[in-house]
Amino acid sequence: MISIMVVFSNKVAEMNQTTSHKSKHKKRKTVAVIVAHPDDETLWAGGTMMCHASWQWFIVCLCREHDEDRAPRFHHALKYLNAEGIMGDLDDGPEQKPLPAAEVEQTILDLLPRKHYNLLITHNPTGEYTKHLRHEEISRAVISLWHKGDISADELWTFAYDDGNKQHFPVSVENATLYTLLTKKTWLRKYSIITKTYGFPKNGWEAQTTPRSESFWRFPNSKDADKWLTNGGILL
Ligand SMILES: [Zn+2]
Repeated sequence: MISIMVVFSNKVAEMNQTTSHKSKHKKRKTVAVIVAHPDDETLWAGGTMMCHASWQWFIVCLCREHDEDRAPRFHHALKYLNAEGIMGDLDDGPEQKPLPAAEVEQTILDLLPRKHYNLLITHNPTGEYTKHLRHEEISRAVISLWHKGDISADELWTFAYDDGNKQHFPVSVENATLYTLLTKKTWLRKYSIITKTYGFPKNGWEAQTTPRSESFWRFPNSKDADKWLTNGGILL
């Protein structure tokens, strides 16, 4: 009798383990973050990534693949963010020459693994500060690819930050669809990636910017995102 009960309880334990493994696996949300530069993922979404460590994060960084300083730092940052990722080599010269939309879109398609994502995150069509053209171009390209069905995803979030037209460092938009005030511990981890992993000086723009809260505009369908793009990425 005892041995039967032991066998039975072992079986139940095994079944519970299988069920919990399955549900854990099932809940693992797949997220693609598509950004211009190594540091954008940390500045604008690093806290969110840390708060959702169980999600499966994949970061596409479109510039600086051959930057001997920034590229290895990006890959180190991914380790701290528990993410995988890849870099591209779009022009990132200081003159910010406009790039053809087709080139930006094709580069994204070449780098992003073809699969369905539960969530896409990228720049806002207005960017996060005044101003970097690559942020805006990449936002337009991602929204357009999603709307055309070239990227498959359930929803899209764009970063929601504003620098008051250079009046202050970029801060998260409090009335955006999603707003999270980071805990001090999370913010310090994010700040450490910016200052230690990326090596930005404490009195530099990146370190002084490192937002303490993170915001996103959320789009449950590509039609709404396309409309947002048409409106210039601002609330009307
Ligand atoms: Zn950037």
